[in-house]
Order: sequence, then C-alpha cells, then structure tokens
Amino acid sequence: MFRIIIRNAARRGSAKPSHVKFPGVIYSGVSNSGVKGRSLSTPAAASTRVSAPPVRKSTTTARENKKSKKNLVVLGSGWGAVSLVRSINPSQYNVTIISPRNFFLFTPLLPSATTGTVEYNSITESISGILAKESSKSLAEDSYSRYLEARATKIDYTNKSVAIEDITTHEEHSVPFDYLVIAAGATTSTLNVPGVKEHGLFLKEIDDSRKIRARVANWINSGKGTSLQAVVVGGGPTGVEVAAELQDLFEEDIKKRIPDAGPDTFKVSLIEAMPSILNSFDKRLRKFATLQLQKDHINLLTNTAVEKITDKTVYAKAKTVLPDKSESVEAIEIPYNMLIWATGITTHQFIREFMSTIPEQKDSKRGVLINDDMSVKGVADVWAIGDCTSSKYPATAQVATQQGTYLGTTLNQLATVTEAPDSTTTSTSIAPFEYHHKGSLAYVGGNRAVADLQLWSDGKMSSMGYFTYWMWRVAYLSMFVPAQNRFLVAADWLRVKLFGRNINTI
Ligand SMILES: Cc1cc2nc3c(=O)[nH]c(=O)nc-3n(C[C@H](O)[C@H](O)[C@H](O)COP(=O)(O)OP(=O)(O)OC[C@H]3O[C@@H](n4cnc5c(N)ncnc54)[C@H](O)[C@@H]3O)c2cc1C
Repeated sequence: MFRIIIRNAARRGSAKPSHVKFPGVIYSGVSNSGVKGRSLSTPAAASTRVSAPPVRKSTTTARENKKSKKNLVVLGSGWGAVSLVRSINPSQYNVTIISPRNFFLFTPLLPSATTGTVEYNSITESISGILAKESSKSLAEDSYSRYLEARATKIDYTNKSVAIEDITTHEEHSVPFDYLVIAAGATTSTLNVPGVKEHGLFLKEIDDSRKIRARVANWINSGKGTSLQAVVVGGGPTGVEVAAELQDLFEEDIKKRIPDAGPDTFKVSLIEAMPSILNSFDKRLRKFATLQLQKDHINLLTNTAVEKITDKTVYAKAKTVLPDKSESVEAIEIPYNMLIWATGITTHQFIREFMSTIPEQKDSKRGVLINDDMSVKGVADVWAIGDCTSSKYPATAQVATQQGTYLGTTLNQLATVTEAPDSTTTSTSIAPFEYHHKGSLAYVGGNRAVADLQLWSDGKMSSMGYFTYWMWRVAYLSMFVPAQNRFLVAADWLRVKLFGRNINTI
C-alpha cells in the first residue's frame, strides 16, 4: 500500500481510497475571445497534432462537465511542482502529487546545511502540509488532493497513465491521469568522467548533504593525525558555495576545536574547467569571488579539466595560457579523501525513455522540449516545467517557480472552459510564458556574497561584499513561504553566531 495523504477540504474523513480511478472527464473547449495571446491547444484540438493519444468523445452535458473535475497528476515535489500546486485552484482539479521526496527542499541553502550553518528541518516543508494548506483555501465541497510517496518509472501517454514504484514497499502501480505535469527535476551529471559515480559525493538532495556532513563529522571525531582534503569539482554557484561553507566551518569552528590545525590538516580545492568561476555572473563579481576564495585559503584551480578519479586521487589536465597566448597543458594529480561533484545536471532515465517514444522529442540534447505554454511537444495533455525541460532558460529555482505559477494559472483557465452547446471543439487563448529574471546571488565565504541584480528590464546592478551578504540572507529568508521556515533559518544563523556549528552524524 502507498503511504498517501488525502486532503478533502470540506469533508475531512471522507477521503477517497488510494487507488480510486477518477471518473474520466471529457474535455471540449469553446473559444475565449476575451483573452489575448497564444492559443493553448485543448486535448481534442491537440490530438490533431499527434497520432498517439486517442481522441475521446464528449458524452457529458455542459452542466456535468462543469461539475466534474480533471484528474491532474504532478510528478515531483520541488520548486516547479510546489509553485504549481500553490497556484492551482483545488476546487477545479483532483490533484495527485507523485514524488519520492515527501517534502519541498529549499535548495539554495543546501550548501549551508552541509556544514550545519542551517539545519535540515529549517529548509524543508512537508508536502502533506502544503497540500493541506492549499486545500483549506478552497471553499469547494469536493476539493481533493493527495500525495503518493513513489517514483514515476514510466509515462504511458497513449493510455494516459504513469507507472510508479512505491519507495517503501517497491510495489508497482499505475496511476491514470487526464492531465500530467512533469516537474521531476534532473539528476547530477557525471560528464561521463570515470570514477565519479564510485567515489564522488553529490549535492542535490538532503541525503547527499548528510553524507558530506557525516564525512566531516567523522574526520573531526577521528582525532589528531588525520587530515581532510576536500576537492569540489564545478565552479558554478553550488560548487563555490559548498567550498566556501566548508572553509568557513574550518576557520570559525574547527580551528577552535583543533587549535594547531593548518592547511595540512584541512584543505579545500575547487576545480573549474573554464578560465573563471561563477561564469554566469558579471566579470567584476567573478574577480571578487576569485579573490575572496583565495583570501580564505581555498586552493582554486581554474582551466582544469578532471579526466579520471580513483579512490584517492583526482587526475586532471591544467591549461596555462602563456604570454604569447599559446597554451601549455599539464597533467596534474590532486590527492583527496572527500570529493564533491557539482558540475551540472542531466535528464532522468524515465524521462529519457518517455522522450524516446515521441518523434518531436528525438532531437533534444538536454530535457523535454516544450512549447511556450509549457505543453510537451508532440503529445496532448502533458506539460513539463523546471529542470527536466530543455528551454532557453537556465536550470534555476527562479525559472521553475515562475513556470509552475504560470502553468497553475493556465490550467485554472483551462478548467473554466466548458463544452459548447453544439459540442464543437475549439481552443482557448493563453498568453505564452514570459520569464522575468530577478537576479543571481552566490555566497563566496567569509561573510561575503555577490549579486547580479535585475532592477528593471534593462537595468542591472552588481553588488558584492559584506552588505551583499546580508542582502543574500534577507533575500533567501523572504523566499520562504511559511513563516516557520523563516524563523527557523534566522534562528539557525543566530545560533551559529553565538555558539558555533553543531557538526555531527545525527
Ligand atoms: C545545492 C543547490 C543549490 C541551488 N541554488 C540555487 C539558487 O540559489 N538559486 C536558484 O535559482 N537555483 C538554485 N538551484 C537550482 C534549483 O534548485 C533547481 O533549478 C530547481 O530545484 C529546479 O526545480 P524543479 O522543480 O525543476 O526540480 P526540483 O526542485 O529538483 O524537484 C524535482 C522533484 O522531482 C522529484 N523526483 C525525482 N525523480 C522523480 C520521479 N522518478 N518521479 C517523481 N518525482 C521525482 C524529486 O524528488 C523532487 O521533488 C540550486 C540547486 C542545488 C542542487
């Protein structure tokens, strides 16, 4: 059996059984000439684009259709999925969230959690809590949502069902859908470098962070005579932040416990294949970040491409640009006993398999190809948002959140389209998704941060240093929706300031 949470806003206690099949609701749209913008295909209209999904004929009356609700299945419980759930009208859909993770994770503070600067509870929010809150906002009698703690293993868009595996029992089940939203994120890319899977630690989920924390705690508790040689691969925001947090831990806490600890005892190396770290940031900020990391004694190796990893050594090629602009390449070996791999993302296997069955998806190099309205190219009634997609936008929480909000609003609009009296199927107009970049922030250690801010459409502002560090903190606090998380994170920061970090293997 699944561990499921069913929320029924008005009739609590009258929850539906976990494997209930929602009545198939047939959709037919009428044109909504009042809304300007692009055309979002209705299921029937979209089915003219593809041969696979069967066109289902309408049998319901307009009144029944209005009362009935579509079965909306959402894969994922991350930034995209949660912002979608927060903007969808629960009285218009039967919402099922499927995800192996029963909580939302505030990923920007995951590097801080790795060293105990914030605690895991502070940066997570339970999915059942989010669903309960959203359902309670709905005054509708039949508001219904549920969460299945499972991972999707196969999307069968022809028969409109998702195969899932219960993460506790490993039982397999099939969940039918009328509409499907894929918001399952992505997985860490190893760039096919030999040895990464076997020897590397990643930083994508809480469990990854716990492993790094445990490694550091075990080293601290192992007593004198041992050293921690941490190597972080990837000079993007995640790699820079985790390297900076590790060095902060050493400077602010470990040195107090082990007074004679020096660079031989604890060393953080940050490896980046490009000439600079934080490549998406302004040049001045990149320079500031580089100087800050070096000032904090982080061994920064840019222009260095990792080729192979064994259990104790990172093998890399370091490129040097000589004064005459020619290049020399040197093979280097970096000893390590903790390797953190933070080099980017790649598509989940089950999503790749789904894409491989759709001719329109075959050319995608990264993730699911989507239209401007987030609908998946080549299939009807399936949308995708966030890191699992291939689009012109970066793979960030900001993009996933805005896409989730947009899609929630779009689906609300779609749900209000009722069957035309003459049963003709047309389409409703939906404005295409527009991304509004608000800026990028990164913590670079020693209570310093960098920020590339987008103040208005063409107005950018770069900011760096101690003031920016406080801005970084305030910005992240304000991004938490529940006040409880804001309070917990602020309390963690205060606790660390007063008493230091609590590094243990709990
Ligand atoms: C350490 C770190 C720091 C970051 N910092 C920032 C930052 O400061 N600013 C920023 O904008 N972005 C940041 N990002 C990137 C940001 O977290 C991602 O872009 C964002 O999470 C993408 O949202 P998403 O909803 O697409 O995927 P996620 O938030 O990754 O959510 C994916 C969800 O899908 C679930 N899932 C996985 N497999 C399956 C399956 N088979 N079936 C069903 N569900 C599945 C997962 O459990 C998860 O709940 C950071 C990322 C990391 C790892």
